[in-house]
This record gives sequence, C-alpha cells and structure tokens, in this order.
Amino acid sequence: MNKVVKFGGSSLASAEQFKKVGAIIRADKERKFVVPSAPGKRSSDDTKVTDMLYACYELAEQGKDFTAQLQAIKDRYQEIIDGLELKLSLDKEFKSIEKNFKEKAGSDYAASRGEYLNGIIMAQYLGYAFVDAADVIRFKADGEHDAELTNQLLRERLAGVEAAVIPGFYGACEDGKVKTFSRGGSDITGSIVARAIKANVYENWTDVSGVLVADPRIIFKPVGVETITYRELRELAYMGFSVLHEDAIFPVRSEGIPINIRNTNAPDDNGTWIVESTCQKSKYVITGIAGKKGFCAVNIEKEMMNSEIGFGRKVLQAFEENEISFEHVPSGIDTMTVFVHQDEFMHKEQKVVSGIHRLADPDSIDIEADLALIAVVGRGMKSTRGTAGRIFSALAHANVNVKMIDQGSSELNIIIGVANADFETAIKAIYDIFVLSQI
Ligand code: ASP
Repeated sequence: MNKVVKFGGSSLASAEQFKKVGAIIRADKERKFVVPSAPGKRSSDDTKVTDMLYACYELAEQGKDFTAQLQAIKDRYQEIIDGLELKLSLDKEFKSIEKNFKEKAGSDYAASRGEYLNGIIMAQYLGYAFVDAADVIRFKADGEHDAELTNQLLRERLAGVEAAVIPGFYGACEDGKVKTFSRGGSDITGSIVARAIKANVYENWTDVSGVLVADPRIIFKPVGVETITYRELRELAYMGFSVLHEDAIFPVRSEGIPINIRNTNAPDDNGTWIVESTCQKSKYVITGIAGKKGFCAVNIEKEMMNSEIGFGRKVLQAFEENEISFEHVPSGIDTMTVFVHQDEFMHKEQKVVSGIHRLADPDSIDIEADLALIAVVGRGMKSTRGTAGRIFSALAHANVNVKMIDQGSSELNIIIGVANADFETAIKAIYDIFVLSQI
C-alpha cells in the first residue's frame, strides 16, 4: 500500500522545513509518492517563490532587465540546498529559465518553475526518482485538464517506479506548452497522483492541524474536525472554508481514497480525515459553520403567484439574461426571493428589475442589501431532532434577526440569511450552542 504525500509551500519554505518533511516521509515506508509545492513564506512578511516568479516574468515580458529578481529566486533555492548540504547545482536550470523568460515562454511556465525546482531538490534529498509533471499531467488545447489522459500517462510512467517526486501545480498541453492549475493547485496534483496509483490515503501536509469547526478569525481557538465527508467539505468550502483547492476532491473522490490533512509542524496530530462516508458521528452534531457576507435579496411579490405556472422561470430568466447567478430562492405563496451576490448584482440591478417586470409582471419588487449567508453543515443533522430549533433559539437569544432559512433536501445543511452586521454574532451564537456548551 502506498500513500501520496503533498506538502504545501510553508512546509517547504526553508531547509529547516525540508528537514521536517524528510523526517515525516522517512517515518512511514508507505510515503512513496511526494508532491511538493514551491517554497512559500518563511514568515508573515515574506514572499512566496511563486509570486516572485510571476513578478520576475512580468519584467521579462515587458522587455525589462530581470537579472536581480531571478537571482533573488535562485538565492532562495540555494539557501535550501546549502542548508540540506546537498551536492546539487541549479545553474543549468536557471540558465534555461533565463533563456525561456527572454523568449516569453508564458507566465504559466514561469510560475511552474517554483514547483519544478523544489521537486528536483526534494528528489535528491530523499533519493527518490524525479518525474516532471509536464510529462504526465495533461491539459487539453482549450486549457481544460484532461483527467483521463493524465491518469493513463501517470499510471504508465509510475508503473514499476518505487518512489517518486512529482512537482505540483502544473502540467503541459499536447504540444509541450506548460500550463498551471489555478493558485493552490498542487493540492489537485496530489489528488491526481493518488488516484493514478490507487493510494490508500492522500496525505495533504500543511501548516494547520486540519479543518476547524469555524473560522478562527471569528471564533477564538475553535475545535478541530476529526472526520468530514467530501460532501460536507464542499458545502463548507463553497461558503468560504479554505482548506484544500476545491478541485482537489474530485480525483480521489472517484476512487474513494480518503484525504488526511496534517500539520508539518505538529506531525503527531491526527489532523482531519476527509472521507466518502463514515459511521463516525460528529461530536457536536454539526461538522462546521461557514458563511459569507455581501448578498442582496430581491423580493418579488405578486398576488396569486402560487397559481401562475412558469412565474419562477420568468423571474430567473431576468437574472440569466443579465448573467447573474443566484444563490437561493426561498418562496412563499405570493412572494419569491432571489439571493444574489451584491457585487455582481449592484451595477445591473435596474436592468434586472425592469427585466422581471417585463417577463413576469409582478406587483412589486423590493431589494434588500448587505446580507450575509451562514451555512451550518453536518451529516449528523439528519438523524438528530431539534437542530434547527437549537440554531434559531441561539440566534434569538443573541438578538439576531433571521431573514431567510433554507434547509437542503439532503438535510446536510441549513442556510441562514442575516444582516451583514449580525454575521459574527450569529456564528458565535451557533458555535456556542453546539460546541462550547458540549465541551
Ligand atoms: N505554488 C502555487 C501557489 O502558490 C501552487 C501551490 O502552492 O499549490 O499557488
């Protein structure tokens, strides 16, 4: 059985961090396939190598001198090589990077060098084979990732390879042109490699000990989540939980491979398990709380709306015509509300309003701005009575007015709309009733 281990930028920011990573990999014989990010920040005011590469390439593209910027990047790697006492020179690599920058190889190529070079160092440090992601991670001509071809190429390339380092974040098109995933995309590479080798687990090592029940900027030291399902994570990620790149779930999900989020700086912590399904109950009924500010509610009223077939479609058409996606559509007998992102809606609002009048002929339309949506997510809600009751009594006690309620039919989440100004208070109240009162 093999594990795929992906290490994020902060886990590989310096020689000291590399040593921790080396110790983690050597502590478990199954950790045979390693996906590194580029060196991240060594301290909060530091710059990620990926950002240095983008900035450096921008100069190259403008035809300006970029020698000093490229040297600064080289210095970051040299510091790691020296700190690890490796006999490795990246001179040749940097010569060809310089040449390719001058020939305007593209910003994706530029950014990808962060992972590429870190992969070379990591492979030498561990004594593992180096597999260039450009040879095995494939993108289609239109820029979309080619999951099936990649899976086949990776399987062929890794067959018989005992241990390898495959840099994260990038791949290439058929013609060899390097292309990256969106930022944070090494998470996706790790997942793709785990799928290809049918790993028994995909370990994603970062600088936190897993997923937290709520945002630590709102809740002081929130408790961690031991186990979360892919679906729960998706619901929470959509509402602003940032743990993994959101596309990182799909490759492993199709194979039922669990993801284990771990902390490089606290390797003994169990971290969080992200799984397809589990009989393990969450300690607190709810698994997580997340939310976002900045929504608008468009309230549409029409007498006898309930008996008019096609009314909802006509209303939503007005949003579609203006290319606005909607979040939730709670409705009553004579009312219907459409929740939209305020920033997307704001400059098109009058077009949408006149569109609704033209298409659906309502009695009145009223717009309410500055609303927040909060998702309370938990697989445990399905089998527990009174969850909604507890949420609403907690909110009432905290003097929060609930503007909208939406419970998904899967009973996996309850979405609540409140005023932006009540957002933090509402999250604190929900956290207190489900978690603090249980500790
Ligand atoms: N190095 C890339 C970034 O900073 C990709 C990654 O770390 O996953 O976004």
